[in-house]
Amino acid sequence: MKLLSLGLSEIEEVILNLGQPKYRAKQLYSGLQAGKRPEEINVPRSLCDLLYANGYTYGGVTIHQKLVSKIDGTVKYLYELEDGNIIEGVLMHYKHGSTLCVSTQVGCRMGCAFCASTIGGLVRHLEAGEILGQVIAANRDNKTEDQKRAVTNIVLMGSGEPLDNYDNVLKFLKLVSSEDGLNISERNISLSTCGLVPQIHRLKEEHLGITLSLSLHAPEDELRKKMMPIANAYTVKETVDAMRSYVEKTGRRVVYEYALVNKSNDTKECAQKLARLIRGMQCHVNLIPLNSVHESGLAGSDMKRVAAFKAELEKENISVTVRREMGADISGACGQLRRSYLKREESPCNTSV
Ligand code: SAH
Repeated sequence: MKLLSLGLSEIEEVILNLGQPKYRAKQLYSGLQAGKRPEEINVPRSLCDLLYANGYTYGGVTIHQKLVSKIDGTVKYLYELEDGNIIEGVLMHYKHGSTLCVSTQVGCRMGCAFCASTIGGLVRHLEAGEILGQVIAANRDNKTEDQKRAVTNIVLMGSGEPLDNYDNVLKFLKLVSSEDGLNISERNISLSTCGLVPQIHRLKEEHLGITLSLSLHAPEDELRKKMMPIANAYTVKETVDAMRSYVEKTGRRVVYEYALVNKSNDTKECAQKLARLIRGMQCHVNLIPLNSVHESGLAGSDMKRVAAFKAELEKENISVTVRREMGADISGACGQLRRSYLKREESPCNTSV
């Protein structure tokens, strides 16, 4: 059992069941949230030993490698999990705070044609504490002078499909926004999905203040099927209808992510279809020139085509921005850092050293 997956009341239960005084729970919990491992917290060593003997582990992540952009200070992390698996994350600095992009699974089984995270398939789901652990590790690694927490915003846009790991992701959202924990407001959290329609309907009933993003990438079924296998399971119409009902139920504006692939989904016709699809909805469109992934052979649109696509949407009064590229010098599309790590590990040059 991972300690970081537990809320304060659950830690209290554990502590009482182990016959320990209840106040130890608060000490343990506060220490964990502040980035300490059990043995670094000011509690008796015998308590840590008792926890470990009863099958509890820390449950967070260790920073395995860190790359810092010379251009804008963006940090890319490779984190190691307790079972040795590797995941990645990115910390981006803005005027008003810092956004951490977290992974929700080791690998991914959604199979999108342009995405590096899915190339090796799904290895396993992350537990709530392992997602929270990424935030805690980034906070610890970026202690600010005024002791303010470094991470102010979170996007669930790293490796994995968050709604394919529904229960753990929901538990993470509760933990990270908890007042006695990191207390990151749900309004500062975005969850991005490739469009698991039943789970979108389930999510709208959870009364969360988070922002829901849909990776749409194509305004019609045939084109979307070529890019995203999930389009074989749910039509564009069903998916956008689910987003509309999410807006109606929660009152929250949703976001559509649209990665522009050169001379494919970036035509004027596509822009017009997209506009028709989402017109009148409380939403925003995020255009991302596709980040080329070596294995996919797909190229991103040039800036001229991106600008034309944007202008077409603006003509229809749709709120739209082009996502700014962060950390260009350390970049590589989503999942590429982990991918290059795995390749290094597999490479015979490494094993023969
Ligand atoms: N599974 C979720 C979240 C992870 S991916 C989802 O599909 O939304 C986060 C975002 O990055 C998604 O919009 C995804 O489509 C996009 N993405 C993946 N690979 C990309 C690439 N090579 N270039 C641009 N965006 C990419």
